[in-house]
This record gives sequence, C-alpha cells and structure tokens, in this order.
Amino acid sequence: MTERDISRDISRDASRDILAELAALRAADLPVHGGRTLAYVYDPGLGPDTADLAHAAYAAMADVNGLDMTAFPSVAALENDVVAAAAALLGGGPDTAGTVTSGGTESVLLAVLTAREHARATRGVTAPKMILPVTAHAAFHKAAHLFGIETVPLPVDPETFTPDPAAVAAALDDRTALVVVSAPSYAHGVVDPVPEIAALAAARGVLCHVDACIGGWLLPYARRLPDAPAMPAFDLAVPGVTSLSVDLHKYAYTPKGASVVLFRDAELRRHGYFACAAWPGYPVVNTTLQGTKSAGPLAAAWAVLRHIGDAGYLDLAARTVRTARALRTGIAAIPGLRVLGDPPGSLLSVASSDPALDVFVVADCLRAHGWYVQPQPGHGGLPRTVHLTVTAAADGKAPELLAALADAADEARKLGPAVADPGLVEAAALIDPATLTPEDSAALLQLAGLGDGGALPDRMAPVLALLEQLPTALAERLLPDVIGGLFHGRPANLA
Ligand SMILES: *Cc1c(COP(=O)(O)O)cnc(C)c1O
Repeated sequence: MTERDISRDISRDASRDILAELAALRAADLPVHGGRTLAYVYDPGLGPDTADLAHAAYAAMADVNGLDMTAFPSVAALENDVVAAAAALLGGGPDTAGTVTSGGTESVLLAVLTAREHARATRGVTAPKMILPVTAHAAFHKAAHLFGIETVPLPVDPETFTPDPAAVAAALDDRTALVVVSAPSYAHGVVDPVPEIAALAAARGVLCHVDACIGGWLLPYARRLPDAPAMPAFDLAVPGVTSLSVDLHKYAYTPKGASVVLFRDAELRRHGYFACAAWPGYPVVNTTLQGTKSAGPLAAAWAVLRHIGDAGYLDLAARTVRTARALRTGIAAIPGLRVLGDPPGSLLSVASSDPALDVFVVADCLRAHGWYVQPQPGHGGLPRTVHLTVTAAADGKAPELLAALADAADEARKLGPAVADPGLVEAAALIDPATLTPEDSAALLQLAGLGDGGALPDRMAPVLALLEQLPTALAERLLPDVIGGLFHGRPANLA
C-alpha cells in the first residue's frame, strides 16, 4: 500500500463516520420512502434504480452554479428541456415560457411578483390586490406579505370547498393584479372552477394563475386513465389562464428543490426577472429569487423525467388514483370519519362527523401505528381535518392503512377530543400580539405545553386544539417562537 492509498483509506473511514452520524440524526425523522408518511414526501415506489439515478445526476451537477447560464450553458439546456416537458403536459403552446425554481413557494412568489410588475407596467396599478380563495396555499399569503399586495379572500362552498365564480366577478376591480385558483387545493384536494374564473379575469384584462404545484404532474395523467376522475379543465389551454405552477419534487417524484412556473409568453415572464447594472460587480440577471443556486436539483429532475417517461407517469398515476379511491371508500366506511369534497386525485381531507371523535387525536394514535397523516386546524368556518397525500408507493397498502385508521379511531374515541383550556382561550383573546414581550410569549407557550426548550410533545392534539382557538394574529406571533426554540443555535455535533 502506498502512502497515498493509506491516506485515502483514512479519509474514507472518516467519511464513513460522518455519514454514519447523518444516518443517526435521521433516525428520529419520519420515513421518506415506503408510503407510510402521507405528507411532505413523495415516493414513486420504483425501487433504488430511480433514486440512484436521481442522486447521481444531482451529484454530477451539484457544484455547477445556475446563477450564470452563460458561464454554464448546461443549465439553460437542461432548463429548456424541463420547461418544454412541463408546457407539453400542461396545455402550453408555442409561445409558452417558463422558469425552473427551487419549489412551489418560489414558483408562487415569482408568479405573484410577475403579476404585480405587469399590472404596474401595463395598467398603472400602484396599490395591487390579489383575489384568493380562502383555500389557496399559504405561499400566496407569503407573496402578499413580501411584495406588499392586498389580499381579497373568496369564501368557498362548505360542501365542494371551491369558490363561486360569481364572487370573483364581484371582487374584480381596477386594482386587481392577479386572480388565483388551485388545481387542486392542498388542504382539500379539490379543483377550483378554473374555466369560469379565468374567463372572468380575462374579461377585465386581469391575469389568472393556476396553482397546480401539487396536482400538475398527476392530474393530466389521471385524465388519460380509462376510468378517469371528473375534474374541470385547469391548464394553460384554458382561455384566460396566464401562468401556472407545477412542482417537480411532488408528483414528478424528483429530489427536493425543483418546480416550474409557466407563463403565457416570454413577454409576461420578463416582468418577474430581476436585472441590476447599478453596482460595480458582474451584470446581474436573476430569473428566480435566488442568486447562486446549485444545478443539482435541475439535473436530477431532468434525469428522473427522462427515466420515468410518459408511460411511467401514466402508470404511477393509475396506481396513485386507485389507492386514493380505495382509501376514500374505506375511510367513508369508518364510523365517525368522512372525506370532504370530491377530490379527483391523490389528496384526501378527512374530518370527523362525531363530536366524540377528534381527528387530531386520530392522527396522534395513527402515528403510534407507524403512519403519518397531517393535522390541519380549522379556519374561517372550515372544519379541522387531517390531510393525506397519497403517492404511488402506497399502492397495495390501503387495507393496512385503513385497518390502522379504524383502530386509531377506536382509540381516539376512548381518549376523547382534545379541548383547549377555555380560560386560556379567553385570556388569549384579550392579548395584543403587537405588544407581546418575549417573556409573555414564553409564558404562553409554557401554558400551551410547548415550554420544554423547544422539544415538541409526542401528542400534538392538545397543542393544535389550542392553536386553532387562538386569534390568527396571536398564533402568527407565537408560532415563530416555537420554531425559534428549535433553532436555538447550540451545536450538537460540530465542535
Ligand atoms: C406544495 C404546494 C405549494 C408550495 O410548494 P413548496 O414546494 O412546499 O414550496 C404551493 N401550492 C400548493 C397547492 C402546494 O401543494
């Protein structure tokens, strides 16, 4: 063995140790594969080949900087392929233009920023508004907050969970920069009446964005199945739709950090680009909100799209929709549980129809059975639910999940509902979040069961029940302190 071989061995051992530490840290995480985590993660269930390819492509391009596509032309080549694939799937035409972003939130931010800039440049709108069904993703509220846009909330029907187009007509005015619809909404998995709403926006010369972040790579395939679910048209072929977001890191099953925002044409898209020549450094053109960005997620997405291909995605959609249907039927048969609305795809929203049965408690109990479903606090008259994101990896697992869910429901009924302390809720209603001190916040979190130096309790139902009862502004003041407690800055593993 040469000296070099020995030092390479030593460094390999050191790398192995570091990777072992990472694996140990992940032991407390929810599983990212296997279909038992029904939120946050997307598993096609295709085995290691797909994942290995994705990771190899990611690694191959990880150090390439997508900041400058003139220095790294591979970035533009890959991005053009990925955008063209998204446009072809989602009703784009020869003029459709797009941008690859880091995720749904960034795609939404760019769509909203583009609309604001477009409204200012073409219609002189200086105090822009955005019409938003109450079911629209929180990313639109983030965009409104960051970009100084007033939101105009649209109520949704209590049975369908979709907005009434007539309400859009009434809400449109000269300050409206954008109307937003979802295909589908995250919380309830239902598709808004896109054709009617887009037509109303277009008649006023207003842009209309379709948030297909989660459904955009699934629903077009679901529509092609022999037993296709009914759903409204929602893509760029619908007259009046001017932009659309679709996440690759959801139902295109690519590694995290990849989404596409499509625009009617490049002339609309340019309003969201940022150029700066007012500094002594390199001339800046940012197509996204990021500066330096790894080409890894883009390369991985490109590789996975090619690897799975059209037939592969059709098959994955068939398996996903089949599983979601089986779950929907099975859940409806569990006493006290009901699925809300008429979701055509892969997302299910489950509420309780029995006051003795609390779905937050069901979620806690189900977790002890090895399944994760996501609690969604009620808001604005919409009920408390748990959310299931079904992926192809759950194919064949519906009977097992339904049995666990039935058991969890029995256990939850025995435990009884989680109720917020009425005294605490009453006191909270009198608090002005704007003047809350750090000490007040810490005291409130202690009372809420979150006082333990950032550690979250095993059973979240009581915390969520309280959160649901708090005035929104107070909840939005306290939640950052909860997360701030997790990011306390005390190193665990790095010296
Ligand atoms: C996931 C999602 C987003 C946000 O996407 P991220 O990738 O989590 O940033 C926006 N809209 C909808 C409907 C989503 O499901």
